[in-house]
Amino acid sequence: MDTNLPVSTQPRVVIVGCGFGGLQLAKSLRDAPVQVVVVDRNNYHNFQPLLYQVATGALEADSIAYPIRKIFAGQKNFFYRMADVQRVDTASNTIHTSVGDIHYDYLVLATGSLTNFFGIESLEKNAMQIKSIPNALNLRSFIFQNFEKALLTADPDEKQALLNIVVVGGGPTGVEISGSLAEMRKHVLPKDYPELDLSKMQIILVEAGTELLGPMSVKSQQNAKRYMDELGVQVRLNTHIKGYENCRAYYSETEFIPTENLIWAAGVNGAEVPGFPAEAIARNKRINVNRCNQVVGYANVFAIGDVANMVTGEMPRGLPMLAPVAQQQAEHLADTIQRLLKGQTPADFTYKNKGVMAIVSRNKAVVDLPKGVHFSGFFGWLTWLFVHLMTLVGFRNKVVAFVDWAFSYFSSDQALRLIIRPFSRRDVKDDQGKKKAEHNTSTPQYNPTPPAIQTPA
Ligand SMILES: Cc1cc2nc3c(=O)[nH]c(=O)nc-3n(C[C@H](O)[C@H](O)[C@H](O)COP(=O)(O)OP(=O)(O)OC[C@H]3O[C@@H](n4cnc5c(N)ncnc54)[C@H](O)[C@@H]3O)c2cc1C
Repeated sequence: MDTNLPVSTQPRVVIVGCGFGGLQLAKSLRDAPVQVVVVDRNNYHNFQPLLYQVATGALEADSIAYPIRKIFAGQKNFFYRMADVQRVDTASNTIHTSVGDIHYDYLVLATGSLTNFFGIESLEKNAMQIKSIPNALNLRSFIFQNFEKALLTADPDEKQALLNIVVVGGGPTGVEISGSLAEMRKHVLPKDYPELDLSKMQIILVEAGTELLGPMSVKSQQNAKRYMDELGVQVRLNTHIKGYENCRAYYSETEFIPTENLIWAAGVNGAEVPGFPAEAIARNKRINVNRCNQVVGYANVFAIGDVANMVTGEMPRGLPMLAPVAQQQAEHLADTIQRLLKGQTPADFTYKNKGVMAIVSRNKAVVDLPKGVHFSGFFGWLTWLFVHLMTLVGFRNKVVAFVDWAFSYFSSDQALRLIIRPFSRRDVKDDQGKKKAEHNTSTPQYNPTPPAIQTPA
């Protein structure tokens, strides 16, 4: 298959992935004397930090996605191909994609990350994840389907498992989704499901470490824990989920939490693209890069964002997987490529940490700024809303998100709880949209022994 890209006298920069990094890089190369070719399997840019709001019915999927072609309309040196990149051939400067081969002069991998199930097959098969828009829509449908099923069953154990929601991973995503579900339990579900005894609905946030929000300040960690307690989310620290089968989330060989809803937000790996030697790949499957984002051992191949493992003196385990890291590296790489074209030496990248934040629920968020400044509560919440609204791509998306948020704030309601695409676990697909092996049915298979909520020793 021919990708029909126009032949150009200018060098071709191929960017794989149009997430935060790829999008910013292609924009920053707008006036550079290069042909920019972006390849992404999706024809939209996805604003991942708000995926959990799609999953819990607070925002429409369309509000957090934006068509790639629309973003770049009018950028003359820009070309897009919707394709899955399968392999890099560095010897011939070519990428092999699902729509044909593409030659590059400079290659930039901005492929982000994939959910890491730490090799636990039962979790990979049965847990819900939240890395993509299809994941978020599936999760939304699945949770509401389970409330409908809970109405129908007379079996108290089955009902309890359908009502229990276990969120694994106490980082920002786990905290945000747990808080959002707790809000839904308080404000939305009593109106929709007056027949269900929602006092039985348990939201259980499980974290293997000793604190929630591991990378944040102690103050923010403590505030997040207090907010979770206030919202009635059960936080279980120092607890490892080791498997998930037959609607049982096991945290030891014999102890488990019965649940039909297990959301896995406990880790990610770099979304490496095959074609590099083992020494180019670091822990977490990130690609080793130098301080100019050059893949170690290759002059014309770069990686940015989540997939890039850039080690600095301050961050010996690599820069964090955050949107600002990807965006800043992209801006810097645009400069690097232009310097290389002029025969100049590129400068090293330095990450400017402008702060981290996590929202817990309405009026509750935690914010850490540089130089030890922390704040939380209503002001933190307003800051979070403002920053996320401003960084959403597209004016329409900003307006729609603002209206949806204002509506749910003043009405204590959420408009979006349609089960448009009924979901069964048989449909589970991985982050790349590939169908996973079939596994347990959507109807729980209960062990004759009544499951009970077990308390860690
Ligand atoms: C639920 C969630 C919440 C988050 N919250 C925050 C937050 O609050 N603040 C924050 O700073 N960060 C947050 N992050 C992390 C942030 O989203 C990432 O750090 C950021 O998206 C990384 O940008 P990137 O460009 O490296 O990759 P991504 O934005 O992930 O983009 C990767 C792109 O590559 C494409 N792609 C991947 N592989 C291929 C392939 N083989 N072929 C073709 N296309 C491919 C994908 O389709 C995608 O468009 C969150 C992440 C998640 C999942």
